[in-house]
Amino acid sequence: MTADAQDSKKIIPIQAVAAEDEEMVSLYAAAKKIYPRSVEGIFAYWRWVVVAITQLVFYGLPWMEWGARQAVLFDLEARRFYIFGLVLYPQDFIYLTGLLVISALSLFLFTAVAGRLWCGYACPQTVYSEIFLWIERKVEGDRSARIRLDEAALSTSKFGKKSLKHFLWIVLSLWTGFTFVGYFAPIRDLGADLLLSQVSAWGIFWILFYAFATYGNAGFMREQVCKYMCPYARFQSAMFDHDTLIVTYDAERGDPRGARSKKTDIKAANLGACVDCTLCVQVCPTGIDIRNGLQYECIGCGACADVCDTVMDKMGYERGLVRYTTQNAMINKWTTGQMLRRVARPRVLMYTSFLMALIIAVGMSLAMRTPFKVDVVRDRATLARITENGALENIYRLQVMNASELNKTYALSVQGLNGIDIVTDKTVDVSAAQAKWVVVRVNVPYGTAEAGSHKIEFTIQDSASTDVLHEKSVFLVPR
Ligand code: SF4
Ligand code: SF4
Repeated sequence: MTADAQDSKKIIPIQAVAAEDEEMVSLYAAAKKIYPRSVEGIFAYWRWVVVAITQLVFYGLPWMEWGARQAVLFDLEARRFYIFGLVLYPQDFIYLTGLLVISALSLFLFTAVAGRLWCGYACPQTVYSEIFLWIERKVEGDRSARIRLDEAALSTSKFGKKSLKHFLWIVLSLWTGFTFVGYFAPIRDLGADLLLSQVSAWGIFWILFYAFATYGNAGFMREQVCKYMCPYARFQSAMFDHDTLIVTYDAERGDPRGARSKKTDIKAANLGACVDCTLCVQVCPTGIDIRNGLQYECIGCGACADVCDTVMDKMGYERGLVRYTTQNAMINKWTTGQMLRRVARPRVLMYTSFLMALIIAVGMSLAMRTPFKVDVVRDRATLARITENGALENIYRLQVMNASELNKTYALSVQGLNGIDIVTDKTVDVSAAQAKWVVVRVNVPYGTAEAGSHKIEFTIQDSASTDVLHEKSVFLVPR
């Protein structure tokens, strides 16, 4: 056997070779802290308008009165929802379902047309991150000052600034938690109870829970929520098409990128419009570079478009190197008019017609609903009994729910068997937006009905109007 043949028969210890090349690869990477730079411009302005409107509504709404009660209150304890003049009971759950479907369809429609504008302007995560960031900037300064502060050793000044920032964040978070709970428990009573330290343990828990969520999400998690936690970010790409509005870098115009002076002849220097200042990256709340193309992390906030416009202005170049546009408009070099005409495309028209049909159906159903509800429950403790007058009696419990803003009187009657009648009060008074349980005894002359279960129907009529409800039940005749 030759030396070569012997070598080829050598058994190579695989583990030993692997051990030599072994390298530990960690799949964990700590999130890099992002220091978004402040930005001014048309999109920043509109974002602040939306922040102001949404927060005015959120913080202001629970303090609004409607008659003698809170205008918007989801009273879980009393199982009643008040939305201005509308009083909803658990039986009205269908409207809540309708509202949720309308919201989902609106989001589909909005995303198909305008991309992630919801994320960039109105999503609570964006809105609270923006407010918290504003506080951070006021206390610690803009991007470079914040980076320097974080890198500096602990000092009295650093400790003071950090403490003040966290104090303001915590106050805002607690107020947000208190407001949130104020949608589910009367906010004025809740405030008074807080001052007197009489809030229930659950009340305290939910205030702190929501405050903690606000503090954590808007103060620390920020873009991580959009990148890793938000389900909407995951499935929205399915709603995008080439005519959906997105924030885009015009690579054809911008590349080749490079620093230059204002006087540089960019044609002669073979440069595009991008001066490679990286300001678009510095202002980005999710820390991405829009010049690398559309990325799922982009929330469509337009901050990069704003800052790039200021750079273009300074350089004397045309605005819009980074802009809101659609893929089709970018490729085909469409005008704004041509781009807008594509809004009326089949997918959008389909979403719109579904949405309109649903809004009309829910609206009509709400307008036509009877402003009271009745639940009939047979008294299971007493099956049937013979009364002193020789009649056969069944007992029922009726819950009459007044969903109007007026005190009401309702007339009760029953049908379904010969001689059937109510022998207790045939009227029931229910205060505005309240519910009342009444015990109703129903008699049938003995011997007029066969043994067994008989279908009967209660009629409940609003004495002051033509509103009437019919509720089915059964009358039991024992053997
Ligand atoms: S802000 Fe505009 S000019 Fe500056 S790097 Fe970004 S795209 Fe280029
Ligand atoms: S890339 Fe631009 S639009 Fe997208 S999140 Fe960053 S700054 Fe906002």
